[in-house]
Amino acid sequence: MKKLANKIALVTGGSRGIGAAIVRRLAAEGASVAFTYSQSAEKAQTIANEINAAGGHAIAIGADSARSADIIQAVSQTVAEFGGLDILVNNAGIYIGKDFHQHTIDEYDQIMDVNVKAVYVATLEAVKHLKTGGRIITIGSNMADNAIGTQTTLYTMSKSALQGFTRGLARDLGPKGITVTLVQPGPTNTDMNPADTEHADYARSRMALPKYGTVEDVAGLVAFLASEEGKQITGSWVTIDGGFNA
Ligand code: NDP
Repeated sequence: MKKLANKIALVTGGSRGIGAAIVRRLAAEGASVAFTYSQSAEKAQTIANEINAAGGHAIAIGADSARSADIIQAVSQTVAEFGGLDILVNNAGIYIGKDFHQHTIDEYDQIMDVNVKAVYVATLEAVKHLKTGGRIITIGSNMADNAIGTQTTLYTMSKSALQGFTRGLARDLGPKGITVTLVQPGPTNTDMNPADTEHADYARSRMALPKYGTVEDVAGLVAFLASEEGKQITGSWVTIDGGFNA
């Protein structure tokens, strides 16, 4: 039997990059997968169509993570469509990099709404449905432990908040048999962090394995944490960064 057979997952930001790879991997492991998108409707629908054509179950839901009402609706739609929820993957995230003095208060709201508040809101809704064996997996960043240089303050602050969220919530949900984990990728080749830039050359120079990660690397780790094999891991994080933080 497939590792995630009969499981129902919701992935935020599943239209591109790491989130899209997570959607595909969870579906390949047998889960029914709902996922959200904000801008990339066509890409999201293509992914859902491909999974469904291959005999899986996937739906793409338009939901802006900056809007709490959208997230609440996405959780409801997942439960209505598939009959429950076992795995929440909080993946959607944005990066705004600037010298600190150039940042605005509005940018604080943009980053915190998507990278932190949306995680809180989605989880608050999801826990109404999760049962024993449930999983909350959030995508943070290796930068929560290592601000790699200038222009990272706002993003690093948002990703550090997820560590506190993971620790505290693991205690709250442990008695219910639900695990809470954080995956902290390092440089991973996506639209957010392409592997062919000057910044990428610098990043590689700091890595023990001087090679960008792939979205499939991160998706594999998420699938492991979501599976039965991940049942004893909670309240902590796994950094998957090619040794950037070593
Ligand atoms: P991309 O920018 O390549 O993709 C982001 C995804 O999130 C897209 O599917 C996008 O959907 C979605 N998204 C963004 N904003 C919103 C929103 N407001 N509402 C709903 N969905 C949204 O990013 P990555 O795949 O690289 O990043 C995924 C996660 O991994 C993020 O949390 C990021 O911080 C983290 N990360 C990435 C690293 C990297 O090197 N790539 C390193 C460390 C962490 P759409 O196009 O439909 O708007």
